[in-house]
Amino acid sequence: MKEVHLIYISAAFFLSAFISHLQCSPDANPFRRRYAFNLIPFLIVMASMYLPIYVSSIILYKHALLAMLLGQIYTLFLYKTMSYEFGALIAFGLSALLLVLSFFGWILPTLFLNIGLIASTLLLGLHDASVHRSTDDRQIREYTEIQLIAILGLLIMSAGNQYYILFSGQVIFLFYQLAEAVLFSRFLFFQRLRTAKRIDDLETRFERAVEFESKKRTSHMVDQVEHIREKSQRDPMTKALNRNGIINEINALKNESGLKMFSIALLDIDNFKTINDTKGHIAGDECLKYLSYSFMVKNRKTDFLGRYGGDEFIFVMPHVNAPSAMDICERMRIEIMQHSSPKFTISIGIATYPYDGRNFTELLAVADEGLYKSKEKGRNCVSYEGRVPFALKNSQS
Ligand code: GH3
Ligand code: MG
Repeated sequence: MKEVHLIYISAAFFLSAFISHLQCSPDANPFRRRYAFNLIPFLIVMASMYLPIYVSSIILYKHALLAMLLGQIYTLFLYKTMSYEFGALIAFGLSALLLVLSFFGWILPTLFLNIGLIASTLLLGLHDASVHRSTDDRQIREYTEIQLIAILGLLIMSAGNQYYILFSGQVIFLFYQLAEAVLFSRFLFFQRLRTAKRIDDLETRFERAVEFESKKRTSHMVDQVEHIREKSQRDPMTKALNRNGIINEINALKNESGLKMFSIALLDIDNFKTINDTKGHIAGDECLKYLSYSFMVKNRKTDFLGRYGGDEFIFVMPHVNAPSAMDICERMRIEIMQHSSPKFTISIGIATYPYDGRNFTELLAVADEGLYKSKEKGRNCVSYEGRVPFALKNSQS
């Protein structure tokens, strides 16, 4: 094979390395940027084909390699202090100058050219060795390793201008370029694969984020609706259910499967007008709050209290029959009589579902009868005027 053919193959490799470099992500990694200078040997070799340049093509090729190496050295060592574009301009300008000079037959003295090549090869070799030591990037490590072949090829080419020296250096350099092309295509393949995987990951993450956000918002909205519903069903001062709330809860209780009975108690503060008149409305409000608080805190979690209006409350006890309801209310009556502050007492009337009524109005009527009875008996007591027969129908303090 003639030397000139090897140069063209090498030029083609230079071009492919340059194009591969363009495919890489345009990051500021100087290691990758050095491949921009691979265009120089390609341009010079191509120009030498079409221009009437009477300098040996392998010598011209060595000039092109030197120009490329100088560009790379600039990029690798000075890119931090000077702009990359400025370096590229100088390297390409030098190459153009080189072409013009060689057109007139003016080239660098052989000794100077070879020393320049050896020096820049060794400098780049040292740089690559330090990169190899300091990086964990597998791909960069592989590049620096194959640079050894390039160094060997360049050193052999610089050893002299005899045909067999130039030829063997050129062959070794071609091996390097071949290995580099394989590395580049493998890198591009894995880069595409990684990009596709990253897009997939991003899509999955985006979908998850949207799902999470929408669930969060929905649950926030559900909470808000529940909060508004709860508020609309409660008396703001005593925090007991309001009339609507208590009717809804009683209806829900009736529809509960497995619920056979429940009792309601209608409570009314005794002589509340007098408390208001003598101790003031604020003290009156305290009585209402205390009553509500005691019934809600000192009973089962499943029991609930509603303010029916003014000083009247309804206390609902699921699964509780009339005698037990009497006991519970008696306990609460005593608790309020003994511990309330300001002091007050309550009268209570009881009704039990389903014996005393099948709906709220019927139950309320029976509880109201019991309450009336308690007031009639002198207040501060619990009465039951319903249909369930049991020994202790009324209590008295
Ligand atoms: P009785 O023992 O017969 O029940 O006598 P009473 O004075 O308690 O009479 P009644 O139950 O009819 O009195 C209700 C009073 O409750 C009338 C009203 O001034 C008072 N009241 C109603 N709502 C409130 C309230 O929110 N705060 C206060 N402080 N008083 C209220
Ligand atoms: Mg009252």
